[in-house]
Amino acid sequence: MNPVTLEERIAALPDSPGVYIHKDEAGKVLYIGKARSLRNRVRSYFSKDGGHSPLTRKLARQSVDVETIVTRNEKEALILENNLVKMHKPPFNIRLKDDKRYPYLKITLNEAFPALLEVRNPQNDKAAYFGPYSSAGKMRSTVSLAKRVFKVRSGAMHGDKRLGGCPWRDTSKLLETPCLEYHINRCTAPCIAAVTKENYAEQAKELKNFLEGKGGDVVKHLQTAMGEAAAEMEFERAATLRDQIEAVKSVLEKQMVVSQSNDEYDTIGLSIDAGVASVAVLIVRDGKLIGDQHFFLQNIEGREDSEVVSVFIRQHYEGPVPSPREILVPQDLEDGPAIEEWLTEKAGRKIEVRRPQRGDKVRALELAQQNAVQALKEHLSYNATATQINEGLLSDLQKQLNLE
Ligand code: SF4
Repeated sequence: MNPVTLEERIAALPDSPGVYIHKDEAGKVLYIGKARSLRNRVRSYFSKDGGHSPLTRKLARQSVDVETIVTRNEKEALILENNLVKMHKPPFNIRLKDDKRYPYLKITLNEAFPALLEVRNPQNDKAAYFGPYSSAGKMRSTVSLAKRVFKVRSGAMHGDKRLGGCPWRDTSKLLETPCLEYHINRCTAPCIAAVTKENYAEQAKELKNFLEGKGGDVVKHLQTAMGEAAAEMEFERAATLRDQIEAVKSVLEKQMVVSQSNDEYDTIGLSIDAGVASVAVLIVRDGKLIGDQHFFLQNIEGREDSEVVSVFIRQHYEGPVPSPREILVPQDLEDGPAIEEWLTEKAGRKIEVRRPQRGDKVRALELAQQNAVQALKEHLSYNATATQINEGLLSDLQKQLNLE
C-alpha cells in the first residue's frame, strides 16, 4: 500500500474550526495556531503559491507533522490555542518580547484585612487584580501613591509565598507593635486594631475604586465619610479623610480628559519596524486617560497587523483582570467576534472589540498610534546604542588581549 501523502492528509482534514500544532522530526512543538477551517489553514502553509514570509517558509521546512484538534466553534479554538501556547511556548508563535511575566497588583479582598500586593502569577481567587503593568517602575509608583492615600498594608508575592512588606501574616492575632509603615503614615495599622475592621474595609474598597479609574466616585465617598466623621466629632479621622480627598483630587487634575462622557475603554496602537512590534495601550476610564502601557512583541515577521493585534489582545486580556467595556483597535480583526464572545463570557458583561469611526475615540486611537511609534523608535535606538557599546567593549578587549 502506498504511504499517505501530505496532500492526502491535508485533504482529509475537516473544514471546521480548531487548533493545529506543527511539530518537528523530534516531536517538538514548533507552532500552534487556530483556524476557522483547519483544512484551508493547514493547506496554506504548504502551498507553493509563494507569498510566505521567510519565517513561515522556515516553519514549513522544519515541520514534519501537523496535529489538529477540532473544536465546536472559533471561541473554543481561541481558548484552547491560548492554553496550549502557554503550556508549550512554541518558538514560532508571536510572543511578548523577553517572554517575561508582567507584574500585576492584587488587592486580597478574600482576606479579613486586604493587602495590596505585587504579583507575577494572577489566580482566579476572588481577589481584585489590576494590570498587567508594562514596567515594575510604573507599578511601584502606583503602589507608593496608593499607600500614601489609602494607607493599606502592602507587600509582594513570589509564587504562593508573601515576600517583604507587611509582616502581619496571621491576621487572627494582633501584633504588639506595628511596623514602620504606621509611624510614617503609610498604613492605618489594623495589626494593632488602630483602625476598625469596617473602616479598614472602606480604605480597601476606595483603593479598588481608585485603581479601577473611578477617582470621581472615590472623592464623593470620601467627602461623605469626612462629613460623617466630623458630625461624630472624630476629628482625627476627618482630617485624614480630608488629606486623602486632596491627594486623590491632585491625581485627577493631572489626568487628561479625552471625552465628556463616562467612557470606559482601552485603545490599542500598533507600530512595526525591524522585526519588532510595539503596542501602546491607553486606558480611558470615566472619560479620562488614567494610564498607558507599552509592550513589544517578537516573531511578527510576515504577519498581518490585524493578526499581531489579535494575538496581543488574547495574551493581554487573558488574566483575571476584567476587560473594559470596549477595546478599540486600529484594524478590523478577522477573529474579532470570537474574541468578543470570549471576553464577554469571561467578564460576565458585554465587551466590544471594534475600530472606531469618528469622534473622541478616533482621536484616542491616533494618540495610541503615536505612542506606539514613539516607543518603538526609543526601543530601537536604545538597542542600537547598546549594540554599539557592546561592540566597542569587545573591540577594546580584543586589543588588550592582542587578539586582533
Ligand atoms: S502597620 Fe501593621 S498592618 Fe500595617 S503594614 Fe505594618 S504590620 Fe502590616
